[in-house]
Amino acid sequence: MSTRRAISVTQKSASFIRKGDPLLVKESFPKELHFEEGEVVSLVDPQGQFVANAYLAVQNKGLGWIYSYHKEEAFDQTFFIQQFHTALARRQALLDDEMTTAFRLFNAEGDGIPGVTIDLYDSYAVFSWYSKGVYRYQAELIEAFKQVFPFVTGIYEKHRYQSDDQAASDFVEGQQAPEPLYVKENGVMYATYLDEGWMTGIFLDQRHVRQAIMERYASGKSVLNTFSYTGAFSVAAAMGGAAHTTSVDVANRSLEKTKEQFVVNGIDPDTQLIRVMDVFDYIQYAKRKSLAFDLIVVDPPSFARTKKRTFSVVKDYSKMVEDLIDISADDAIFVCSSNAANYKRDKFKADIEKAFKNKEVGCRILEEHRLPEDFPAPAASQTSQYLKVFIIQKTK
Ligand code: SAH
Repeated sequence: MSTRRAISVTQKSASFIRKGDPLLVKESFPKELHFEEGEVVSLVDPQGQFVANAYLAVQNKGLGWIYSYHKEEAFDQTFFIQQFHTALARRQALLDDEMTTAFRLFNAEGDGIPGVTIDLYDSYAVFSWYSKGVYRYQAELIEAFKQVFPFVTGIYEKHRYQSDDQAASDFVEGQQAPEPLYVKENGVMYATYLDEGWMTGIFLDQRHVRQAIMERYASGKSVLNTFSYTGAFSVAAAMGGAAHTTSVDVANRSLEKTKEQFVVNGIDPDTQLIRVMDVFDYIQYAKRKSLAFDLIVVDPPSFARTKKRTFSVVKDYSKMVEDLIDISADDAIFVCSSNAANYKRDKFKADIEKAFKNKEVGCRILEEHRLPEDFPAPAASQTSQYLKVFIIQKTK
């Protein structure tokens, strides 16, 4: 610890950090920074006063993360064990809930160790490493994790940073999970695959939104799920008594994966429509056929590139909602969602409302969702709170 470098941050950055913003960027430092990935440093303000401890690592546009405001705190196994204990205590209700067996066990900076998330799928854990710098601590982190979460029987990991020598997904240790591995969420089954690239078949941060659809909005409705991936929203709707679902995704894999999600819940996939096609083409088709859906889910990726066009959620979301209003029934409900960290909540909301206004119909927000309780985020960190969901009804 005595060898730790003291590094100056700008006055402005010191004040952000003291307010609780854990992210370091190029502008945090008065001069260019040279460091080894994962180096632990003490940050000081221009007056030389201690600000916080951080580790340095390239992560997207970031250059490192604050991990502690206590001068003596090391970034080591003892520290990791403490953070894991706090994370565990926070999730006791979820761990006790037999209807839900997949959720986030540890959420990076929101749980006190930036750069790594850990998801639970039944008795298996999936670590996602967001920088080479944090991966340097892999062995200590996994040791600490096993001490605090002894019920985990196998560990997988995802490398979510640029690297030439790392596969996107790896099995790490313990027992291997069956493929598929069945997990439950609010009593609905999902088939997951823990070792297929970055994605597992379900996005765990939408748990409450799937529950809302299932319990409050789907019954008796015709449902359109755009950018449907493995059809998780469609399955939740069908389990909530939807009259019919249509899932649209351009990826070939989505057909089999979506069928499988229906089958594991005892729903005959032939009673549902699964379209492998570009959502933009589907909307044109639906307009020609004068289709009118009661419930429409719009949860696109931040960027989508197909042969014909590129879609940027921040630029194009509003227009997409306009197009979807054209294929919606009276009083239709829209589930509008974006996980793009650079798309701010207020802008997202305004863009949705603008779409209804442009189409000369009213709208009423019924529910708003942010990240669920197992995805805590520091209040002072804008980018950590990436998920925004509005459940909104079209009115006359
Ligand atoms: N809403 C989903 C997750 C969406 S992931 C859920 O919660 O489960 C983004 C999906 O968008 C991917 O499956 C990708 O194949 C799909 N996609 C990207 N561009 C598309 C396009 N132009 N048309 C249809 N699907 C698209």
